[in-house]
Amino acid sequence: MLFSELGLSPEILRAIEEQGYSQPTPIQEKAIPLVLSGRDLLAAAQTGTGKTAAFMLPILERLKKFANTSVSPAMHPVRALVISPTRELADQIGENVKSYTKYLPLRATTVYGGMNMDPQTQELRRGVEILIATPGRLLDHIQQKTVQLNKVEVLVLDEADRMLDMGFIQDIRKIMSLLPKERQTLLFSATFAPEIKRLSNDFMKSPQTVEVARQNATNDQVEQIVYQVDGFKKRQFLAHLIRQREMSQVIVFCKTKLSADQLSRDLKREGLQAEAIHGDKAQSARLETLAAFKEGSLRVLVATDVAARGLDISELPYVVNFEMPNAPEDYVHRIGRTGRAGAKGVAISLMAPEETRQHEAIEKLTKQTLTPLPSASLWPAAPTPAPRKREVVESGGLIAPTSKGEGLKQPMASRRSRKAKREIPALLLPPRYKVEMIR
Ligand code: AMP
Repeated sequence: MLFSELGLSPEILRAIEEQGYSQPTPIQEKAIPLVLSGRDLLAAAQTGTGKTAAFMLPILERLKKFANTSVSPAMHPVRALVISPTRELADQIGENVKSYTKYLPLRATTVYGGMNMDPQTQELRRGVEILIATPGRLLDHIQQKTVQLNKVEVLVLDEADRMLDMGFIQDIRKIMSLLPKERQTLLFSATFAPEIKRLSNDFMKSPQTVEVARQNATNDQVEQIVYQVDGFKKRQFLAHLIRQREMSQVIVFCKTKLSADQLSRDLKREGLQAEAIHGDKAQSARLETLAAFKEGSLRVLVATDVAARGLDISELPYVVNFEMPNAPEDYVHRIGRTGRAGAKGVAISLMAPEETRQHEAIEKLTKQTLTPLPSASLWPAAPTPAPRKREVVESGGLIAPTSKGEGLKQPMASRRSRKAKREIPALLLPPRYKVEMIR
């Protein structure tokens, strides 16, 4: 199927073509016509399936008739409200909307906590058609009367299961009760827990259900590997793994903010570029770290489940579970950071003996067997160094001064091969040294 067959306007088609989307994803194929028809929608879609465009493109199509360039705030009331559990996901949706509205004069803004409210208030006062918000900060704006929601036509609850996990249920119910009764409601969730069903019964009108992946399924594009590693050996094992697999980028998951901080410090000490993101970090620091990771200048992003929720880093090749999550659903979310939009990915879990209970829960939820490999299968065996590689690359010579002060062309290879003879055999060294020698 083509995007042009889905009833979207040329302005939108042009914008998504520029994003490199050639074909709708399955969730887009199913959800776009339904959203365009004005129906309420209950969608089970895994992360990375293209769900943001699945709701945002038809919303833009529906709001297109209101697009205008007037400077009057009254001409730009909030007509679509998107609620996101985390700041990072809100930011990401905001970025997507920016690119999708490139050829449409519709305004959008993103508001979340941890940031000064004043610039957000100014944006809201100027008027926006599309508002993306986290629940707490939205309620702050509502309370301070800096936002009016009486013209909202479409409400999106994104990653609703996570909002409930994070204890936002009361906030969500409150926000929903403040919106016009006549509206379209779209609820996206990775899983349909009973509480999600209750929410939909209370606030939605005969919603259509769309499901693109088996509930609690993991993505087939992600290769899953589990290593049995004692807790105290995990840090060294991880540093070795990153180097041995030559991971250019990896998100490493920890259960707590404390262990994320500790691990990023340890990896730095191991000589790896690593930073942690979690809820205790200032928003500006989180955004800076995320931007560095996205542009590839940061190799290891250590994250807690909450901070990493909804992160979309294109072509992220690796995810590592440094600690097994307590809730098996988090495993599905974590490994969903890789293998996005059809790309291949690898998810590696480090399981300590005391984490077998979590491992079993993951197997049960995802209905698959994840046989743990002994850590010895990777450790201490390391690839044999390839000492000649750099010599081949550095084919040029070197001008070495002679005793007479003249320059003499001396091939680099011969200098290096002399040096190589002095090297300690790699297998006598602990693994991390072995690996460093080849780099
Ligand atoms: P999401 O599930 O919304 O987080 O999207 C995951 C990634 O897929 C994002 O980087 C989107 O830009 C990308 N994406 C969404 N729709 C398509 C499409 N039809 N073709 C290619 N990439 C897409």
